[in-house]
Amino acid sequence: MSTEQVSDRAARHKRAMQRKKDHVDSRIARATIDKGLLVILTGNGKGKSSSAFGMIARSVGHGLRCGVVQFIKGTWECGEHLLFKDHPLVEFHVMATGFTWETQDRDTDIAAAERTWSAAEKLLQDESIAVVLLDELTYMLTYGYLDKARVVAALQQRPAHQHVIITGRNASRELIDLADTVSEVKDIRHAFDAGIKVQKGIDY
Ligand code: ATP
Ligand code: MG
Repeated sequence: MSTEQVSDRAARHKRAMQRKKDHVDSRIARATIDKGLLVILTGNGKGKSSSAFGMIARSVGHGLRCGVVQFIKGTWECGEHLLFKDHPLVEFHVMATGFTWETQDRDTDIAAAERTWSAAEKLLQDESIAVVLLDELTYMLTYGYLDKARVVAALQQRPAHQHVIITGRNASRELIDLADTVSEVKDIRHAFDAGIKVQKGIDY
């Protein structure tokens, strides 16, 4: 490439970057609304709960009070529970009797889901809680363990500045319609399919 071609390319790149910056700046200037968000992380790929706990870590870093409710207790003790369970800024609830894929007792699971949802409802009424994470909540709705209308009402009636993050596969239409931000994590490949066992720090 000649020196002229190089400088022409640099000038084109500079103009393109300036246009991009103008576009981004005008969008930033238009975003003036400040409100509590409902964020949904759904889909079959890995990264929903870990992303949600990333937002809890960010919030705690800013000194914000957070509430976490985990609707499915996994087999392994998660690092996020170990990190946040005794944190002064985090109120952490895990479904007590532990809904796991192994229980297979619908009545026990429904009772546990309802008890856990009561803890979630308290957080959703608490003005002092800035961020509420409802981890794996979607399953409680797809299995019919919790009443959709009750869940939607609590989300709608929460304090106006409170952010809520919901994770889990197959988020229902009612939740998606209510949300401000919805991301679907797509499964392209997972190490588990290659026979690799769960890894501390990455999976739990
Ligand atoms: P993570 O907690 O790692 O962000 P997730 O919340 O997106 O995962 P879940 O369906 O809640 O996904 O599953 C939690 C556990 O299952 C994690 O150990 C995760 O690595 C694993 N997992 C997630 N997606 C898949 C998948 N597509 N195939 C196999 N295992 C998966
Ligand atoms: Mg998860």
